[in-house]
Amino acid sequence: MIRLSKSSIGENEKKQVLKVLDEEFLGMGKYVESFENKLENFFGRQVSCVVNGTAALHLALQAIGVEFGDEIIVPSLTYVATYQAITACGAIPISCDVSLGNLCIDPEEIEKKITKKTKAIITVHYAGFAGNIEDILNIGKKYGIRVIEDAAHAFGSSNKGKVIGSFGDIACFSFDGIKNITSGEGGCVVSNDREVISNINEARLLGVIGDTEKRYEGRRSWDFDVRLQGWRYHMSNIMAAIGIEQFKRKEKIFEIRRCLAKHYDFLLGKTHVKTLVKNYDEVVPHIYPVILPKEVDRDHLRQKLFDLGIETGVHYKPNHLLSIYKQESIKLPVTDEIYPRLLSLPLHEDLSKNLVEKVVSELIRNL
Ligand SMILES: *Cc1c(COP(=O)(O)O)cnc(C)c1O
Repeated sequence: MIRLSKSSIGENEKKQVLKVLDEEFLGMGKYVESFENKLENFFGRQVSCVVNGTAALHLALQAIGVEFGDEIIVPSLTYVATYQAITACGAIPISCDVSLGNLCIDPEEIEKKITKKTKAIITVHYAGFAGNIEDILNIGKKYGIRVIEDAAHAFGSSNKGKVIGSFGDIACFSFDGIKNITSGEGGCVVSNDREVISNINEARLLGVIGDTEKRYEGRRSWDFDVRLQGWRYHMSNIMAAIGIEQFKRKEKIFEIRRCLAKHYDFLLGKTHVKTLVKNYDEVVPHIYPVILPKEVDRDHLRQKLFDLGIETGVHYKPNHLLSIYKQESIKLPVTDEIYPRLLSLPLHEDLSKNLVEKVVSELIRNL
């Protein structure tokens, strides 16, 4: 079976996890501090490591003061994690359409949805592409609204030479098992707003003031105070040990992903299957979605490919179609038109150019 996505774990990750297990300090400690330091050097900004990407988004929204009834503009074409983080704060996700060429939130559509209740915009760097980020940051500035980047797909991607997370307002990353780099589960929030990061450092440890510093010294707080609603959202040493090793070989991982995606682009260029617009000098692709010709029955095709040993995916079922977020009045022409035609092809570190060729030839043969 050619898998759609998978973790890729080397001997060093295994060795470091064993070391943590031998040391018998599994929770948040010096490995998390060390992973955080590496990420801070990479982004040139403060970082708070958390248990997953969803928690990163939830904490970021809470840290900027999102409350019951606030509106958050968000593309419907994202994983349900983005929406759940919003409703976890009691806020209302305002579903927004995407641009046809790159399937990222459409800046023009954002402006139409801004009201007095709009508290933030969440932009999702779909498949790793963040090329519209400047427009969105400008909209944020113009209306005095904060911008949170759901950069779960975009670890390592850049825009005009600047790494995603190193500019802008707040960026949230995921290190779950299939993301560009993994820490098993895991995620982080990056920001140049010191108040946001110190709020998150507190909130990730049930609000216990000063516990982050204590844990990094292998201790914990006993006589403490709590001033805000917290969650048990911190990262563990086991996770950080995996993350540190993946971080060390990130350039190689990025290169493989780029090379495979470029090969897909090349092979699909002469077919009726549409690819997304991307500059792989900047983008590290997390997934490889294509848009099928209108007449193709996507789900039937997926089954045929599966029977041939090729696993595919659909990123994503739009959130405005889910029972919890459904509203008759929501019309998103691009998202609605594209969703039945979306298909993600296998992309991970252990794939080869040969296997990409096999996927493309079976795809075209079975259209
Ligand atoms: C993976 C992902 C998340 C959530 O990250 P987890 O670590 O799985 O909680 C959020 N948004 C998008 C777009 C994702 O792909």
